Parts: sequence; structure tokens; C-alpha cells
Amino acid sequence: MQNDPQPTDLGDVRVANRAVVLRHVRVHAPCSRADIAARTGLNKATVSSLVGELIERRLVRETGLTENRIGRPATMLVLDGEPYAALGLQVGADELAAVAVDLGGNRLLTWRRAFAAPAATPAETVRALAALARRATARVAGEGRAVLGLTVGVPGLVDAAGCVPLSPALGWRDVPLADQLRAALRDPDFTVAVDNEANLAALAEQRHGAQAGATDLVHLTGGAGIGAGAIVDGRLLRGSRGFAGEIGHLCLDPTGPACACGRSGCLEALVGLPAVVRRLLPDTAEDGPVTDFLPELDRLKALAGQDDPTVRAGLAETGRHLGHAVAVLADLLNPEAVLVGGHLATLGPWLLPAARAELAARTLAPEAGGCRLEASTLGGIAAALGGATAALATVESGRLPVR
Ligand SMILES: [Zn+2]
Repeated sequence: MQNDPQPTDLGDVRVANRAVVLRHVRVHAPCSRADIAARTGLNKATVSSLVGELIERRLVRETGLTENRIGRPATMLVLDGEPYAALGLQVGADELAAVAVDLGGNRLLTWRRAFAAPAATPAETVRALAALARRATARVAGEGRAVLGLTVGVPGLVDAAGCVPLSPALGWRDVPLADQLRAALRDPDFTVAVDNEANLAALAEQRHGAQAGATDLVHLTGGAGIGAGAIVDGRLLRGSRGFAGEIGHLCLDPTGPACACGRSGCLEALVGLPAVVRRLLPDTAEDGPVTDFLPELDRLKALAGQDDPTVRAGLAETGRHLGHAVAVLADLLNPEAVLVGGHLATLGPWLLPAARAELAARTLAPEAGGCRLEASTLGGIAAALGGATAALATVESGRLPVR
């Protein structure tokens, strides 16, 4: 790994300065060239040159707005959302989702299609992802936008090359997903990347969620797998090989049910969607493995809403396991908030009261160190939205898009 200082050439400085200008415009738009110079410390000539280049490449545009100051009025700048789009995909327990955003982060499309990846082979999943990606890129290209990149979120371990060494939730081992998807898309001229779904969901929370802008937060995914994506000090916590956050396989009860990873009593085996449905709706297994969880989630919500004592008690118990795991995260990372997604958000009204009580009881710091436990507001597509956000990173880091 490159931890030693590297020589910096003028090109690198320009890329870094371009990133500073883009970030300033994203956060403070509309703003003038003079504002950018005053707030970033870059000199006016540099700002003027960088802005000229960003306008020429249609990453930034001038608005008609002017701000009257002492002296002369200034032309205001905003990000130009029009010419570019980024895509995010996610693989869930029973569906694939696709989200496209423009450079300004505005949602261009949100698609979900039924697909039971845990019951499919990796090759079938790659084909389904490629078909969805082709349709989404055709749609945004038809609107005259160039695709900057595509990032797929999957439950499980993902290495830096976009390979999935292990996903218990999908039953995958050593799937070179990024390479296979790139090949299925016939080597497109945009980047194709793969990341852990919880990491991407955490990026989406940081940019678009109810806690947007928080420097310390965790998104805990609910669905096929349970994983934690942690933003620590404003940055995604990845660990040495990129495998940080696998709290789904934290053992909470050694005598608990068997987990897909081969051990017993893991968080995922207690609060994962398949586990909850198996435990609270035992009759569903009579028709074979569940490939569509939506009807079962609706049944659970209806029974809980009718005060069914077995379901209410089962969800409270699930909530206590969830709170136990969140307490580990709170003690370890002291986040401002833990946001739960997927079925954990859908069943939040019945899970979260018990989970919050458990969180408060188990953390060392008073009031759980200020950690709030809430349902995510991103509606089940957090990983896809985060994937699209991540796909903007190349441009946001100051690299100009390929012409
Ligand atoms: Zn496990």
C-alpha cells in the first residue's frame, strides 16, 4: 500500500484544486468565483481558470443570478446536473434495484425488479444485473446524459478489485463480480465497481439521508444480509482489506439458530429477513424456500398491527437482539446515529422500542453516548443510491470525465 509520501506534480495539484472547487460549489451553490477564492484560499486567477475548465466540460454552469455587493455584481455558479449521470445497483434478498443520479445528486430514476438472488447462480445474477444496467444506461443516454460510472452493492465481503470472496447471504464464494459485469456489459467506457451494500448505504445516508452531513454515523442493512457501513470522522471505515463492518456474523447466542456462514446464533441468523420470516411465520416454509418476501412482510405488519401476541413478542425479541448489536457499534464507534434499513425499517415500529431499551441498557456511556437509533428514510434503496453517489466520486475527486 502507498503510505509513503509521493512526489506531487502540477497535474495532481490541479486535480486536487478542481476537487476543492467542485466541492465548494456542491455545498455552497449558488456562489461566485470570488466566494470560492475567499472561502477556499485558492487565488482568484486559479479559481477563474479552474471554473472556466469546469464550465467548458459542463460540470459547472453560470446562473443568471447576481449578488449585489459593494462594487460590481458577481455571476453565480451552480453544479451542472444535465450532461452526466451515475448509476447504482443493489442485490437484495428478493429484488434488484437501480438508481441513477445526476452530478447534483438529483434522482433521475429508481427501478426495482423481482429477482431472488439467493436462489439464483452467480452467473444468473450477473446476467440480470447487466440487463438492468443496460436498460438504465439506455434511459439516461436517451436523455442526452453520459454515464460516469456504475457501482453495485452486494451483501458480503468485497475486495478492492470488486471480487466477492464470500457472501453467506447469497451463497457466493470467490465471485469476480466487477470483471464479470464489465464483460457482460462489453467493456463499457465508464467505471464498473462493486462494494459492500452497507458501505454504499452509509454513503447514501451521509449525502441524502435524514442525518446527511453527520461525521459519525452507521447504516445497518436489513435484508438478505445484515452488515454495518460506518462513517467515522467523515470517511467510510473500510479496514485493512476492506472487510470492516461484518457485524452480521457477530455471535449473540451460541445456542441460537444455524447461520448461513456455518456458525450459530449470529446476528444475521436472529434478525435477518429470512430468519425473522422463518421464526414468526413458520407456515411459509411449507411451500419451499421463500423467494418473494414482500407478502410475508405485509403479513407480519398486519399481524403486529392487530396485536397478535406471538408476532408482537417475536418482533420484540428480534428488537432486543438488534439493540444488543447496536450497543456493540455504539460502544466501539460512538456514532451520532445508527440508521437501520430494509425490513428493519419496515418493521421499525415494533422492533425499535425494544432495540432502543436494549441499546441504553448495554452501552457503557450514559444515554448510549448520544447514539440515536432510527429507521432509515431512504426506503430500501439506500445501497443503490449510495452506489450512484460512489460512482460520482471520480469526478468529485477532480478527475475530468472521459470525453
Ligand atoms: Zn453467521
